[in-house]
Amino acid sequence: SEKITLEELKSSFRDVIDFPKEGIVFKDITTALKRPEIFRHLVDELYEKYKDLGITKVVGIESRGFILGAALAYRLGAGFVLVRKEGKLPADTHKKSYALEYGSDTIEVHKDAIDKGETVLVHDDLLATGGTAAATLDLIKVFEPKKVYASFIIELAFLKGKDALGESEELDIFSLVSF
Ligand code: AMP
Repeated sequence: SEKITLEELKSSFRDVIDFPKEGIVFKDITTALKRPEIFRHLVDELYEKYKDLGITKVVGIESRGFILGAALAYRLGAGFVLVRKEGKLPADTHKKSYALEYGSDTIEVHKDAIDKGETVLVHDDLLATGGTAAATLDLIKVFEPKKVYASFIIELAFLKGKDALGESEELDIFSLVSF
């Protein structure tokens, strides 16, 4: 595929000021996804990183984690699992609640989504404080996976999400772009 430089990639995202509320600079990935060469580049870069690691399930976090997560699962020959906000998944689920700035949120995964001993890659579009990803990793633990990886398109490094996730020998965290 065509060579995309890091600068090109970084400038393919759009900053939307004060969305969804005042003081937030929202990293909008739609401007990247709509470009065929950038979309392919994102999938290819993640595929190259994870292709030889024996990933059997990619877990996408609702909702923007579904986009590249699904494309990546297809390329890796892995299955795809949905982690969704409470009330969306139809069958029996495991649940996990986590604190937000105001209030809390609950995410769910189907109880039969992952088998013990699988190698799992969790994917979301963006790592901010790490609250969402940390809750997802907690949720995945009940399945007793052999190994867990976490990948993001973008990391907002100043929010120290990696610290919140606790990078360790058991957990490998990776982002394509850091701001
Ligand atoms: P956090 O739990 O703080 O790591 O937030 C991560 C989730 O919120 C991800 O699913 C992101 O899509 C979304 N998010 C948080 N901050 C931003 C931001 N500045 N720009 C775009 N998405 C964000």
